[in-house]
Amino acid sequence: MPEIFPLLKKQDIDNMVSSLAQRISDDYRGRKLVLVGILKGSFVFLSDLMRRLTIPVQVDFIGASSYGSSTSTSGNIHLTKKLEIDVKDKDVLIVEDIVDTGLTLSHIIEHIKSFTPKTVKICTLLDKPERREAKINIDYSCHVVVQKGFLVGYGLDYAEDYRNLPEICRLKF
Ligand code: 5GP
Repeated sequence: MPEIFPLLKKQDIDNMVSSLAQRISDDYRGRKLVLVGILKGSFVFLSDLMRRLTIPVQVDFIGASSYGSSTSTSGNIHLTKKLEIDVKDKDVLIVEDIVDTGLTLSHIIEHIKSFTPKTVKICTLLDKPERREAKINIDYSCHVVVQKGFLVGYGLDYAEDYRNLPEICRLKF
C-alpha cells in the first residue's frame, strides 16, 4: 500500500475555492455560465465551486479517460460521456481537477469548440506545469503544484481509491 502525505488541508481548499468563485462571479457578472466538469476527478471541486458562485449557472459533465491505473497520461483520450446541454452561443467554463500534460484538456477544448459556444474558458483545481506538453491557457487555477508526485483526495483517485478523502494528499509508492 502507498503511504499518504497531506498537501492541502480542508480549510486551505475551502479558502482557495471561495476566492476563485468570487473572481469568476465578478468576471461573469450579468451573464449566465455553463460549467462543464470533466469526470470523474472534478466532481467534488465543481460541486463546491458552483455553490459559491453568485451568478446563474447550468452544469453538465464530459467523461474523459486515458489513465487506467497508471500515473501518467497515455495521450490516447477517449470520451466516456458526451455533453447533454447545447452550448452553442453560450459562455462555457470547463472545470478540471488537474492539468498535467494538458493532453486531456486540449482534446476536450477542441471537442467543446466544435459546438460553437460564445466563449470557452478553463478553470482547474490544480495546475501541474512541470510535465506540460500541450499549450493550454488556464484562466482560473486554485493552486500550482511545484513538487513532483501523484495526488489523491477531494475527488482525485488512484485506481478509483481515495476520492473521498477531504484533503488533497500526495501518494508515496
Ligand atoms: P493530462 O492529460 O493533463 O496529463 O492529465 C489530466 C488528467 O490526469 C487529470 O484530469 C487527472 O484526472 C489525471 N491526473 C494528472 N495528474 C494527476 C495526479 O497527480 N493525481 C490524480 N489523481 N490524477 C492525475
